[in-house]
Amino acid sequence: MSAGEEFTYIREHLVPLTECNPGALGLQDDAAILTPTPDHEIVLCSDMLIAGVHFLESDGLDQIAQRALRTNLSDLAAMGARPIGYLCSIAWPAGATPSDRENFAQGLAAAQSVYNLVLLGGDTTCSAGPLVISMTLYGEVATGTALRRDQALDGHDVWVTGTIGDAVLGLSIAKGELDPHPALLKRYQFPDARVETGMALSGLASACIDISDGLVADAAHLAAASGKSIEIEATMIPFSDPALLWLENEGQAGLESLITGGDDYELLFTAPNNNAASILALQEEIGAPISWIGSVSQGAGVTFRDDMGQLLTIESSGFTHF
Ligand SMILES: [Mg+2]
Repeated sequence: MSAGEEFTYIREHLVPLTECNPGALGLQDDAAILTPTPDHEIVLCSDMLIAGVHFLESDGLDQIAQRALRTNLSDLAAMGARPIGYLCSIAWPAGATPSDRENFAQGLAAAQSVYNLVLLGGDTTCSAGPLVISMTLYGEVATGTALRRDQALDGHDVWVTGTIGDAVLGLSIAKGELDPHPALLKRYQFPDARVETGMALSGLASACIDISDGLVADAAHLAAASGKSIEIEATMIPFSDPALLWLENEGQAGLESLITGGDDYELLFTAPNNNAASILALQEEIGAPISWIGSVSQGAGVTFRDDMGQLLTIESSGFTHF
């Protein structure tokens, strides 16, 4: 891409994504300028996605852009933050066409309109390697209300939003390893960041994390950050109907795939039992299921109790019986 083409791309496809936010300065200056809302804290997160590592080379550019923004938004959601804007840097591979670049901007526009945030800046460059996307998101929370991973206490309940394991099945479908199923594929291609839920959980949840590495790994991250152990009732883990159907033929190994697969972008959170009624009431408000799956206690690590009441423990990403 020549310098002239790059400027044209920025002017025609990226500047509209600022939606005239004055802080973006029309992407014409060296940096963006933001004024924090009084009595609020700034929440920042950043993520890098590389073709062939974080998404399939065969994925469409519109979908890649949406997924990049949506997965980053999930990190803001996990902090209980309201999204405001983002910086996006892209290294285009040699084969990228003008229509690829246009589709990418369209994907950003589509995700922006769902989550109400704007482009504030970034960079585009060309690379001899694969497509690389770096997103930095900017959000806010009222001072002192951010959700963190390290505040779970003994006796707190463990909850999870939505359903677990759909995205890993969706990824298998995208790879041609499973029969097509539009709803499962969508969970992989267009994950729905639980932004509203995260914001609503401020004041109710004690600790929170978004599930990107899989229920098992992220429960372990939260447990470790809080210096506690988490026990999960395997029978209470919420699965979608198509995932349950798939599980019927897969048994224990299937269950392990769903809870270690990752890319769910649901929220896993803990809360004192006093807040259980308020948390369940949130379901109507946000239109997403919230399921109780376990509890926090003294100790370390994550254990699962199966439907026979037997304790299972996890080593790396698989189960081991005590
Ligand atoms: Mg995260």
